[in-house]
Amino acid sequence: MSLSLSPTGLIGGRLSLDFVNELPSSDFSWEELLRFLLLTRIISSERNAQLHALPQNDPQSAGALLSKARKLQASLAQIFTALLRKEPLARGWVEAINEVLRITEGHDELLPRNGRWGLEFVAREGGLDWLLAAIARSAAELVAEGGNAPLRICSNPDCGLFFYDNSRTRRRRWCSMSRCGNRHKVAAFSRRHSTIRH
Ligand SMILES: [Zn+2]
Repeated sequence: MSLSLSPTGLIGGRLSLDFVNELPSSDFSWEELLRFLLLTRIISSERNAQLHALPQNDPQSAGALLSKARKLQASLAQIFTALLRKEPLARGWVEAINEVLRITEGHDELLPRNGRWGLEFVAREGGLDWLLAAIARSAAELVAEGGNAPLRICSNPDCGLFFYDNSRTRRRRWCSMSRCGNRHKVAAFSRRHSTIRH
């Protein structure tokens, strides 16, 4: 998995898409979850260090959050696949999002980020569910956009990464040129080449 990527290397374009893309489906570990939260700056490195010790200090809370995160991810993968196929969404999948939204209290706040002001969700701390709040919120926005959302899956059938197509023409085909686009071009070129030769 591509967890060593820098934040700019995340290709989903939406937090909830990166959550499905970057973590192994359904059985990711506590460490992998924390790495994702750190990578996407949902948690600071200090918070990351504290949370690393949680499975020893409070195994019940850590276990509950991990299983909630896995359930959310599995539901999101099903939701995004259904949205791509223009199929209806099962209530249970959507409920996994609502469950996180419902128990996470907080507010939006303007915060400085990369030299500009950005609107960010600030959760009321207390429980651990706030760690999943921004992911659930991002997914909820995509679902609410419905069929109009430029949600895509990479054209490389072996890839399977989701992305939000922000391109001007809305005809982006690849998760990234370097990862899949160029590989496809090279394959097409060698196919043409061998056809000419035969
Ligand atoms: Zn790809």
